[in-house]
Amino acid sequence: MNTPNGYTEIIQMFGNPANADGSLNHAWEDANIIKVPPPSQWRLFYQSDAITLIPISGIRMHHLLAGSFITVMQEIWDHAKQLVSATASDDEVRAWLHQNRLDQTGGGFNFRMSTGDTSKLSLHSFGIAIDWDPLHNPHKKPLTKTLPDWWYDIWNRNGWSDGRHFKKPDPMHVQFATGA
Ligand SMILES: [Zn+2]
Repeated sequence: MNTPNGYTEIIQMFGNPANADGSLNHAWEDANIIKVPPPSQWRLFYQSDAITLIPISGIRMHHLLAGSFITVMQEIWDHAKQLVSATASDDEVRAWLHQNRLDQTGGGFNFRMSTGDTSKLSLHSFGIAIDWDPLHNPHKKPLTKTLPDWWYDIWNRNGWSDGRHFKKPDPMHVQFATGA
């Protein structure tokens, strides 16, 4: 699947989540947004604030991205396991991922305007963007991040771009699109 560039290609590939009046098209949401579970060894959490982590069974996103998301999560797991040790148990890998907060999301689908440009729909509105560990990878200048470079490389290799290079850096953010 090729990564779309710009809103025209994004809408061609994923449809338009907005009605003519700018509100959410619920029929589009029902037809396109699903909760995608990560590979079964993963435990994911929703990072709701600095002290509250809520276990979740998956992330809501556009159904066309389910396969890519699962591939990325498997590659992240495999890389983390190498860093722990070749013989690490699933519990040990999970503990390492948790210590490094790679298992903490700020959410996928969310119908709202872009925080960078409030005249445009956020790519979260299409279900094609996911935020990770927002507390430690904030949307602000200068770039402040804890997510490792190898982690971004895995997303990038699978067609996702990220917000490190945005005018106002958004390192928590990965998206299956460019030019938007
Ligand atoms: Zn985001």
